[in-house]
Amino acid sequence: MEPRSASPTLRRRLWRTGAAVVGGSVFASACFAHLSFVQFGTIDYTGTMIAASLIPLIVASAAFGWIASLTLRLDASRRELERLALQDPLTGLSNRRAAMAQLDAWSGETEALALAIADIDFFKRVNDRLGHDGGDASLIHFAAMLRRMLPAGWLVARIGGEEFLIAAQTSDFTQFSGTIETLRRTVAETPLITSAGPYNLTASFGLAERRIAGGRDAEPTDRLITRADMALYAAKQAGRNRIEKAA
Ligand code: GH3
Ligand code: MG
Ligand code: MG
Repeated sequence: MEPRSASPTLRRRLWRTGAAVVGGSVFASACFAHLSFVQFGTIDYTGTMIAASLIPLIVASAAFGWIASLTLRLDASRRELERLALQDPLTGLSNRRAAMAQLDAWSGETEALALAIADIDFFKRVNDRLGHDGGDASLIHFAAMLRRMLPAGWLVARIGGEEFLIAAQTSDFTQFSGTIETLRRTVAETPLITSAGPYNLTASFGLAERRIAGGRDAEPTDRLITRADMALYAAKQAGRNRIEKAA
């Protein structure tokens, strides 16, 4: 994910505040010098007014420039922390927290939701055969396939060790299931290339479609996830490397 630059709103606000601070300082200093001249009348008016304007112009600009640069750095750190809090560092996918926030946001927008939980099969064996780094490489390989094969606009997140969540705002559950089935087959047919040769991963998928009770109330997201989890468990029980739809 690319680090984004400071928001235009923050930059605009800093420019406006900077202009007000520097302008205000110059104005206040010039007024003070002018009033001193009116009262005492013995100083070199032009020279005093130039000095009274230039000094705050330089000092206030430098001081505010420094504060503005600190503010921009602070803002960049805040956005980086925000990104780290929402992204899985290994795969670059959204993490559980980001996924839950996205599902919450979607619940407000529309009631149609299709969801799948994917779990890589026998992942302990993958770690045993390829080592922990090889296990990590296979997680990256799996995540890359999810990213490549699933339509833009779908939510794809790593929500646990070798567990992933996929969701789409669609009422076409048949099409959603078809896409997941194609993904499952492609995962099984696309080996991870390792130094010890090709290694074939498989994954199981539990799918669920949001229920609308009595045509009005939408099923809560946590219940939908529980049903997808139960379907995933059924897929594991039935032998793995398959999709199972929740009842
Ligand atoms: P099943 O087919 O029933 O899902 O079996 P499994 O072996 O995949 O399931 P289990 O949940 O027992 O094991 C998951 C393993 O994933 C255990 C853990 O060591 C490993 N794991 C979890 N997170 C990571 C990770 O970030 N990197 C690596 N390399 N391994 C991980
Ligand atoms: Mg698991
Ligand atoms: Mg597993």
